[in-house]
Amino acid sequence: MLRQRSLKAVVLTLALVSLAPAKEIEQSKTGHIPKPSEFLGFEVGADRKLADYRQIASYFKALAAASGRIQIQSLGKTTLGEDMFMAVISSEENLRDQAKYKEIARKLADPRGLSKEQIDALAAQGKTIFLLTCNIHSTEIGSSQMAMEWAYKLAIAQDDETKKRLNDAIVLLLPSLNPDGQIMVTEWYRKYLGTRYEGGPMPYLYHHYVGHDNNRDWYMLTQIETKNVNQMVYHEWFPQFWLDEHQMGSYGPRIYIPPNADPVAKLVNPLVHRGNNLMGAAMGWRLEEAGKSGVIYGYSYDAYWPGGTRNTGWWKNMFGVLTETASARIATPMDISPTELQGGVKGLITYEQQINFPNPWPGGVWRLRDIIDYELLVSDAALETVSKYRQELLRGVASMAMHAVDSADPAGFWRIPIDDQRDPITATRLASLLAEHGVEVRLAAGKKSFLVPDAQPYSRFVEEMMGIQRYPEVHPAPGSGILEPYDVAAWSLPLMMGVKADRVRLTGGEQSTVVTMKDLPWPAGGLAGTGKYYTVADQLNNVFALANAMLKAGGQVFIAKNEKPENETPVMVFATHPQLAANAEKLHLSLQARPDLPKDLAPLKPVRIGLYKPYIASLDEGWTRFLLERYGFNLKNIENKEVKAGNLNAAYDVIILPDSTRDVIVEGRQGREGYSEGFPPEYTGGIGKEGLHALRDFVEKGGTLITLARASDAIIGEEFNLPVRNVLANATERGRGVQTAEFNIPRSLLRVYVDINHPVGYGMPREVAAFFDGPIAFQTSAPAPDALRSVIAWYPDDAKDILVSGYAHGAERLERKAAVVSFTKGKGKIVMFGFRVQHRAQTEGTFQMLFNAIIW
Ligand SMILES: [Zn+2]
Repeated sequence: MLRQRSLKAVVLTLALVSLAPAKEIEQSKTGHIPKPSEFLGFEVGADRKLADYRQIASYFKALAAASGRIQIQSLGKTTLGEDMFMAVISSEENLRDQAKYKEIARKLADPRGLSKEQIDALAAQGKTIFLLTCNIHSTEIGSSQMAMEWAYKLAIAQDDETKKRLNDAIVLLLPSLNPDGQIMVTEWYRKYLGTRYEGGPMPYLYHHYVGHDNNRDWYMLTQIETKNVNQMVYHEWFPQFWLDEHQMGSYGPRIYIPPNADPVAKLVNPLVHRGNNLMGAAMGWRLEEAGKSGVIYGYSYDAYWPGGTRNTGWWKNMFGVLTETASARIATPMDISPTELQGGVKGLITYEQQINFPNPWPGGVWRLRDIIDYELLVSDAALETVSKYRQELLRGVASMAMHAVDSADPAGFWRIPIDDQRDPITATRLASLLAEHGVEVRLAAGKKSFLVPDAQPYSRFVEEMMGIQRYPEVHPAPGSGILEPYDVAAWSLPLMMGVKADRVRLTGGEQSTVVTMKDLPWPAGGLAGTGKYYTVADQLNNVFALANAMLKAGGQVFIAKNEKPENETPVMVFATHPQLAANAEKLHLSLQARPDLPKDLAPLKPVRIGLYKPYIASLDEGWTRFLLERYGFNLKNIENKEVKAGNLNAAYDVIILPDSTRDVIVEGRQGREGYSEGFPPEYTGGIGKEGLHALRDFVEKGGTLITLARASDAIIGEEFNLPVRNVLANATERGRGVQTAEFNIPRSLLRVYVDINHPVGYGMPREVAAFFDGPIAFQTSAPAPDALRSVIAWYPDDAKDILVSGYAHGAERLERKAAVVSFTKGKGKIVMFGFRVQHRAQTEGTFQMLFNAIIW
């Protein structure tokens, strides 16, 4: 992608002329362009009517067949196998020349080697590539419906203004970023239509693995839908503008538009915000002009966090805007009393007129049609703006890219050593992830390290991802607490992944070559020598994938016993097997032959894992399932009924309670207060006291119970009677910023020491960056003589050593407290992780502790 840049300038003009037109040119079409209602049998936005993703896809195909202004581009399959598509909408001429416009967009995104005149010429010639994404959050259903109506309007318009807009811009329209979830929500809605559960919540995640967190995945790129879109954006189309349409709660403003709220990320080029605010101004104007009230800016959504769709693009010199429209009850209208309207959110503390909210919505009936009307207005305003400011936006992207290059030290690099790593495979994964993001990654001569140059268009993104975060203390008023982060406060990839990386200056003309995701060299895997057994150091995450693959294939695997001799690096040993070499190669693991089995090893038996799944869906359950499946563990979900029924040892060796509150797990309740419309009866309740007793019985008879983060609260209580308490039990309610004066560590990376001689700490470094999410820190005490308790990981003695990346106030409360503990009870074990050992499948540096706990 980014190589041979220097040649580009020379052949620029030539290249533009000689580019072949797109293969899929369609001739002007004269067919009847169907209205959505003709196609669906109902009006878009009608009360209680929804089109599902397959209907939407069929409609777009029909539109593309009838109109020369619309084409369909496939983006690949979804997690559950749906075809993910986007519509490419523009004038017929632009669609015919789309290859040329993609090439211009690519050059403007990386204008190295171009003169100012050449950039201006490209900006004059180019079209704005405008990406509009809808419905990443599946219950935020309006935009998936709006997309059909908007595309139809654009397809049939004959007025000069629309024609001009379609001549200036190429619209990339994704009716849903999560097709599987769109279908789930539509099916659920239809199933309960006409019952008291109409429009109510679903008792499961609306993405097979990650639910709402599909919009937290945009720097880590773990999910297939994220990868599909990332590939299209940063390797193919290079849009200058990204608009992502969401929905928010029902009782506040009607729509949020830019500017964002504070805080603001240091590294984003300020021009990004200027462009976004220009867009926000146009949206506000058109909404107000159309008589739409309740428009707010500077509200809730900060300009700091890079994990969501368009945000990630900010660090890559792309303009990107979020809108959030108030929700109805899916497609069911809501009648909202004026007395129910509320603020209580950053930017609108009380629901009343303010300069960022000059025309409050007065209350009344709010329906799907209203959502769609607001969304149509902002979509139109966005297209109008990218048309009007076409050249400014194109030049803006190029100027930000050039600024990133020119302001960098040409000798500055991030270096990721390959061999000098605890886990070279994870180090390579980090380099691969950067390349997937479109970052220029180089391989040093000698192939001993990856080098990521500072002087490149995406250098701000690189710095944000590779460096550490210091969350800014912004006080909205003198004496008040700080503004809380919208999501997490730390994402330092090397720390999270447990990868060594350092900043270096290379002035000696070091040789290196650009590598792409495809040709990036992974550590060679396979078998070295011949023997009855093969051994590998037990400190590579992939070793667990190999163990699981070999157990599945009927092979034999041996691991260190509990009484591993102090300070010896633990190993995993594999008996020779016809599939061993191929699996080792696939997993980049190099195994060393040995004639016999080392002493003190025990055979690893296949572990049957039950992963608890509450009806108030746990995002962590989804992520844990995703991660364990990725590493080939043998797991099944286990629901309330099955837990309550007991006799759990018959089916499971390990039960994992993912992060969820005690209320959710035990009682199936979200919190202790407040109204909840609830689920249909078959999805109500929790595991109850019987469930807790069944879990205790499971442990006493030899099972292993693992609790992740808040789930530890479920078993800290009389039922288990363990010598442990959570010293932060009442410190703060996550995300609410309660008691910020005393203790406030919002989702940051903290230093933790690990007992590497404990089986759960095997293969780990003595010190890790652990992802701290909720207020959990353990204080243990000595147990009765027939039980053991181990502190496996703990926080430093001194508060000033605790924060690694993010924000920490009141870290004294963590001093010398335990972070991971284990207990024996009867014949079984309990392991409690206080931090997020596998947070969103991002914290590769601590995955192994979870894997160790499973096989312990
Ligand atoms: Zn959303």
